[in-house]
Amino acid sequence: VEYQKHYYPGTREELVAKVKAQVSQKRFDHILGVEQAAIELAKANNFDVEAASVAALVHDYAKERSAEEFCNVIKAKGLAPDLLNWNNFIWHGVVGAEIIKDELKITDDTILNAVRHHTVGAPQMSTLDQIVYVADFIEAGRDFPGVSEAREIAAKDLTAAVSFETKHTLLYLLNGNKTIYPAAILTYNAYVAK
Ligand code: GDP
Ligand code: FE
Ligand code: FE
Repeated sequence: VEYQKHYYPGTREELVAKVKAQVSQKRFDHILGVEQAAIELAKANNFDVEAASVAALVHDYAKERSAEEFCNVIKAKGLAPDLLNWNNFIWHGVVGAEIIKDELKITDDTILNAVRHHTVGAPQMSTLDQIVYVADFIEAGRDFPGVSEAREIAAKDLTAAVSFETKHTLLYLLNGNKTIYPAAILTYNAYVAK
């Protein structure tokens, strides 16, 4: 993808280097896998591949930041105080978007919202939100029961893949007696419940 600088004020190679400097090799490989999957989903859904590439490359940019840093950002930016009761799984998207805005000079809300929504979704997800949410789940490096079915569904119907993924993730969390972030229920009600 040759960037036209609609979403990031630099080249793709510059953005890749900035992301690589922030994460482990394993996570970097995952991020490149998400970019590839997002570009394919963008093409299949007549969506802007540059936006898909930028959003995918930055989606886990803040994943390895400390709890202390996330809590400081939540307070400094006046984000919902309830966020302080959560953890890195929730913070790296919602709070990570603020870090991306400040450090990478990405200001476009379609990109930042795709980062904000990539872990638990949202009741009304844009096409880019859906592309990143699904690409994160089906990228080539993912290997878990159900991933082949998710890939098959995504190849035919992006929103059906959002539904499948939302239900799969919620079942996984319930089976493990994990806490459910309230927004995840709103995503379930919007994309799974009938
Ligand atoms: P990753 O950043 O590429 O590893 O993937 P995600 O951002 O999609 O997910 C990060 C983690 O958040 C995963 O381990 C999910 O199981 C977990 N997660 C997703 N939704 C919820 C939720 O509602 N509550 C909790 N506690 N964890 C969640
Ligand atoms: Fe993530
Ligand atoms: Fe990810």
